Amino acid sequence: MPIKHRVQRKSLKTSHTVSSPLGNPQAHQSGVLQKLLQEDPACDYDLIVIGCGSGGLSCAQEAAALGRRVMVLDLVVPSPQGTSWGLGGTCVNVGCIPKKLMHQAALLGQALTDSRKFGWECSQQVKHNWETMTEAIQKHVGSLNRSYQRALREKAVAYVNSYGEFVEHHKIKATNGKGQETYYTAAKFVIATGERPRYLGIQGDKEYCITSDDLFSLPYCPGATLVVGGSSVALECAGFLAGLGLEVTVMVSSQLLQGFDQEMAEKVASSMQQLGVRFLRKFVPVEVQQLEKGSPGKLKVVAKSTEGTEMIEGLYNTVLLAIGRDSCTKKIGLEKIGVKVNEKTGKIPVNDVEQSSVPYVYAVGDVVEGQPELMPVAVQAGRLLARRLFGGRLEKCDYINAPTVVFTPLEYGCCGYAEEKAVEVYRKENLEVYHTLFWPLEWTVACRDSNTCYAKIIYSKFDNQVNCPFR
Ligand code: FAD
Ligand code: NAP
Repeated sequence: MPIKHRVQRKSLKTSHTVSSPLGNPQAHQSGVLQKLLQEDPACDYDLIVIGCGSGGLSCAQEAAALGRRVMVLDLVVPSPQGTSWGLGGTCVNVGCIPKKLMHQAALLGQALTDSRKFGWECSQQVKHNWETMTEAIQKHVGSLNRSYQRALREKAVAYVNSYGEFVEHHKIKATNGKGQETYYTAAKFVIATGERPRYLGIQGDKEYCITSDDLFSLPYCPGATLVVGGSSVALECAGFLAGLGLEVTVMVSSQLLQGFDQEMAEKVASSMQQLGVRFLRKFVPVEVQQLEKGSPGKLKVVAKSTEGTEMIEGLYNTVLLAIGRDSCTKKIGLEKIGVKVNEKTGKIPVNDVEQSSVPYVYAVGDVVEGQPELMPVAVQAGRLLARRLFGGRLEKCDYINAPTVVFTPLEYGCCGYAEEKAVEVYRKENLEVYHTLFWPLEWTVACRDSNTCYAKIIYSKFDNQVNCPFR
């Protein structure tokens, strides 16, 4: 019975290009065919995906396109400030998309200044309206939410707006926003529950501070803002807020952009300083007090040095915490079925085919231990996983050398090792570093600084350097 069912589904799908493993002798030899035949027809679904962000969505859609019975569960737990959003996960709602659009708003401010040198005469006083920007961005995000729902419907993926939690092997409980519980079973599961912003655990943080989960739909201009943290989320938010003309301070506990090339991180910081961002290095907040309510109100932040006993105080309208993100793996019943989780990080260790310690449970995206936390990485991992599970394909996700960009608003793109890491791996004497300052054509007429843009390439002396653009 199960064989007939699957062959029929495959033969109905003539339009997709994925080759069927059923007519492929290699699939038999590699054991793929055997795996396909082992699916349990007694289960409600072939695959249940918990979390419908970048990774979950791509995996579910691909599995459905391969003719499988797929269900996704997605429920957004509101932030401590009460912010919530629709379908699509972090990137679409509170990550890459609104961030990139606010970054664009900041770039447009700079373009307005540049435009005068290019002959544009503006008679009106130029100012920025936060509410207009956020409303327009949220409208676009809403349209993306709806397009994802449509796509799931069209691909016949069952979408359930509920919180998923394992209750026993192959079985989950789905609890919706009204507390109603439904149980579902599946042969395979993918965990793609992502991460949520971390809090400091100090007096006043959950009451008075916001995170990136709240910022992109904040209904009022945040005013003078303290950004706590020194990595991508912190610097990007600080960068566009400063680009919109706000007074911005960044409090950094140790290094800027840890894990990135530190020479580049300092260049990013100096470009942000030129934009007016103030950095408080080696301090951490110890208390946040509300002095005045309002939209925004007034907050006092007490901070202590990470190197000594010095204490400082500052007044801000908004405090944005960007101190890292916690994996959403604690309240999904993993202990009930024995999925191993790194106790310290909350991440799920997987093998090179994204399989957890429980063979029928897989994980993709930000919850996976030791891999880059990036949207395209989650999408690719999800898609390839579905193809391997249900399409007879063998290609694995290549996590090495994923390129990334930090938008501050100066755009810092990188791929491969930071210089510090390259030295650790290859030793300094085996490396050659080429670097150059450059002046983008668009910046020349606008009279923008000719010493801000910088490129660096790190080579191993043992590799072929023929293609080095700086030679
Ligand atoms: P997510 O997209 O977080 O999706 C997880 C989903 O699961 C969520 O919808 C969540 O509500 C849901 N969920 C959680 N638990 C449950 C449960 N038990 N039941 C049901 N549903 C559940 N990456 C880039 O590549 N480029 C960028 O420019 C970029 N900018 C970023 C900016 C910010 C401010 C942030 C925070 C992140 C940014 N990222 C960027 C990272 C990127 O957003 C993530 O790597 C990506 O979204 C991870 O996708 P995911 O599928 O793992 O998880
Ligand atoms: P992160 O990279 O984990 O950095 C956390 C930052 O918070 C670090 O600077 C850390 O400082 C600081 N911090 C931690 N605890 C602190 C404390 N108690 N007090 C003060 N500071 C503290 O987190 P993130 O910036 O939230 O980014 C999460 C992930 O999202 C990243 O891995 C990235 O891949 C992804 N992301 C990507 C993009 C992009 O592609 N453009 C943009 C945003 C996010 P120390 O180093 O001193 O500990």
